[in-house]
Amino acid sequence: MSNKLVYLFREGDASMRDLLGGKGAGLAEMTNAGAPVPPGFTITTEACKHFAQTGEFPRGLWEDVLCSLKDIEGQTGHGFGDAVNPLLVSVRSGARFSMPGMMDTVLNLGLNDQTVRGLATGSGDERFAADAYRRFIQLFGKIVLGVDGRNFEDILHESKGGEARQDTDLSADELREVSRRYRKLIRAEAGREFPQDPHDQLRSAIAAVFRSWNGRRAVDYRRLNKISDDLGTAVNVQAMVFGNMGNTSATGVAFSRNPSTGEDVLYGEYLVNAQGEDVVAGTRTPRTIAEMAREMPEVYHQLEAIARQLERHYTDMQDMEFTIERGRLYMLQTRTGKRTGAAAVRIAVEMANDGLIERRTAVLRVEPSAIEQLLHPTLAPDARLRAQLLTRGLPASPGAATGEAVFDPDEAVEMARAGHQVILVRRETAPEDFHGMVAAEGVLTARGGMTSHAAVVARGMGRPCVVGAGELRIDEATGILSVNGRSITKGQFITVDGATGEVFAGRLATQEPDLSEYYRAVMGWADEFRKVGVRANADTPHDAAVARRFGAEGIGLCRTEHMFFEGDRIDAVREMIVAETIEERRAALAKVEPYQRDDFGRIFREMDGLPVTIRTLDPPLHEFLPKEEPEVRDLAKKMGIPFERLQARIAALTETNPMLGFRGCRLGIAYPEITEMQARAIFAAAKDCRDNGVDVRPEVMIPLVNTPQEFRHQAEIVRREAAAAGFDGYLVGTMIEVPRAALLADQIAETADFFSFGTNDLTQTAMGISRDDSARFVPLYLEEKILLNDPFQVLDQEGVGQLVKIAVERGRATKPGLKIGVCGEHGGEPSSVEFFVRTGLDYVSCSPYRVPVARMAAAHAALKKMTATGGNDFGQLT
Ligand code: ADP
Ligand code: MG
Ligand code: MG
Repeated sequence: MSNKLVYLFREGDASMRDLLGGKGAGLAEMTNAGAPVPPGFTITTEACKHFAQTGEFPRGLWEDVLCSLKDIEGQTGHGFGDAVNPLLVSVRSGARFSMPGMMDTVLNLGLNDQTVRGLATGSGDERFAADAYRRFIQLFGKIVLGVDGRNFEDILHESKGGEARQDTDLSADELREVSRRYRKLIRAEAGREFPQDPHDQLRSAIAAVFRSWNGRRAVDYRRLNKISDDLGTAVNVQAMVFGNMGNTSATGVAFSRNPSTGEDVLYGEYLVNAQGEDVVAGTRTPRTIAEMAREMPEVYHQLEAIARQLERHYTDMQDMEFTIERGRLYMLQTRTGKRTGAAAVRIAVEMANDGLIERRTAVLRVEPSAIEQLLHPTLAPDARLRAQLLTRGLPASPGAATGEAVFDPDEAVEMARAGHQVILVRRETAPEDFHGMVAAEGVLTARGGMTSHAAVVARGMGRPCVVGAGELRIDEATGILSVNGRSITKGQFITVDGATGEVFAGRLATQEPDLSEYYRAVMGWADEFRKVGVRANADTPHDAAVARRFGAEGIGLCRTEHMFFEGDRIDAVREMIVAETIEERRAALAKVEPYQRDDFGRIFREMDGLPVTIRTLDPPLHEFLPKEEPEVRDLAKKMGIPFERLQARIAALTETNPMLGFRGCRLGIAYPEITEMQARAIFAAAKDCRDNGVDVRPEVMIPLVNTPQEFRHQAEIVRREAAAAGFDGYLVGTMIEVPRAALLADQIAETADFFSFGTNDLTQTAMGISRDDSARFVPLYLEEKILLNDPFQVLDQEGVGQLVKIAVERGRATKPGLKIGVCGEHGGEPSSVEFFVRTGLDYVSCSPYRVPVARMAAAHAALKKMTATGGNDFGQLT
């Protein structure tokens, strides 16, 4: 443990985030950069860790705190506990990673029945002093003594005589009365007196911040953001400055650029005559920073200059807290600002174009998940025309979302678990609602501004969100919202558009996003750094077109059977399946063949010049069969066979464990005529396209191969058909999706032209977890931390990854330069993509909508690999 437990702000700097937390390091850096920061000190995360383990302050901490307090007294000329000229402090948490609104802060600490008089005399404002005391008792009661915060709010609310008046309307006497009632409440609820000794207050507040590290909100947030529980939080103790000293005082939040759109303008909100948490709580509606330019022009210009300076200093967009005390500006926090995907892209591109950062840094600033956000759907324009607009709020986080209205976060979680899409509707959200926001498709609140809790959190998660829809009347208890004479009850659909702030009744259609010039620029740069190819899993000509628009460099997986459900083809497919003789089957196949030929032809044309990997028939056959009796009768009639015969055939095809049953190449081996038909369709289409000037590059892929013999059997059929069609310039390869195939990769590679990892099945077969039933226990495993990720979303690099590595090594030992790709869900998951890049794959393939995500992830992987092998240092990237 490092010996020094307490650092004055002037003793720290931005590099000390581990020890001082993000907030402490930022305060130190700003102090040393000459920004107007009230003096203070930071207690290290090491002290918190010690407290978490032992329940006690480390030896010497309290003495160091007292000593540092002296320094603040010296700088401010106020004395802690001094009845005439009291020093007040804030006690603020601040971990390594910023956890907005997740931990608690106590303001105005140091007030008691004596010092409050000193504050009144010193400031010449009785009302202000009474208000500060009232706030302190409330925060201390809630955070340190654990009294339910709503009780305090109820008392305050009553004393205002209902909604009519604002906090600022209460007189000094009324505020003193509120404080008296608060203290009575504390006595009743906490079973102890509100402490009068400022040193007691400080000691308990520091301990409470330490404890909040393991509070539910903080733990939930860390879980979602995959932040370690072991880091601990620092505690910042800082001289108070007051935004609630009348109309030349204010408090606010500012971003050096617009965090929603990325536009390069100072952006934010402030409240006149208010203290910090008022803005975030969203109980009063703040003014925009643009208004500040008119109302307080001098302070505005100063703030703008500081924002610029900090942005250049940190070379990234800053999110700042400030307070104006009687016309004087103070900076209370700066951190790298959270932003929407759209803003991340625009800011990165504009900063690179301005020469503030390098292009590679710009690419690394755009998380693959930001690209994902950018691709969020918007409302279809015609949907908007017919839509019933309920009301409008603030556009807090873009993207359109539709779902059943739910008014309670726990209920949102339950309904989402049961497979419903829900929109979480709240009067305002608090950190306690976090789990509900995670579960919801979108969030709607009646109160709060663009920097309210709901807005900040939703933006971070990429959840569409509308806040401050002030016309809404929400009854959370009964689950009804009413607005403009209409009401929506729990379970009815609503739609929110987080880009415009509109709220609609009903379930509206959404459409693909319109991708900006900034998006195109950054993706272009990403492609320059990227080494691995990115293909798409596309089953239809339409999917292929979408994939190509998103930048796919070919198709890595075309599941032929997905074409079977269109139109009346399914009948022919069913005939093929239930056929009992080879003649019957050939007759049915002859009906299916023209469809396949036509589809392949159209896909080849969409992918002119790019490879198209087509997988032969893979799924268990009963997936295509009718299940209900009337359907079976109908099919029997169409086929001209007795119902009983068909029913018996269907029964015969039923398997106990279809995922491990009669599927994959086992089908093509049992019924070679199916593979023949598919190969014939592929090469006929390919030949026809080539004859018409299309550059066709078919790659035929055999699924679920276990033995080299299986592969050879199927590959022979494919090659025979290609020769018969007079087509060359194609590949025949195999999927690697069972462990045995990975282990025998050297033998399989003797005849295979390429490998493609089917990581969904490979995960299923390697872990022995059925893909279809994993939902039964995987969530529990995640909760218990038995698994860190769902292995069907994030590749299990440690286990399944070994099989991938083995197959790559052995395959290429036989055939150096063997082409290898991946076509499971993991092909679009950023951390898995990074693994595939490290393992030396040639391409990843994923669903069309994830192609841009995979392109960005691949660029990050390449850039990080460069760094790891001694390339440039890109600085701090979090
Ligand atoms: P959070 O991490 O939740 O933002 P903060 O510690 O930043 O918590 O503080 C909560 C609010 O109190 C913020 O609005 C902040 O600006 C304000 N605040 C904190 N310390 C002071 C201080 N010394 N003087 C005035 N306001 C403060
Ligand atoms: Mg803050
Ligand atoms: Mg498979």
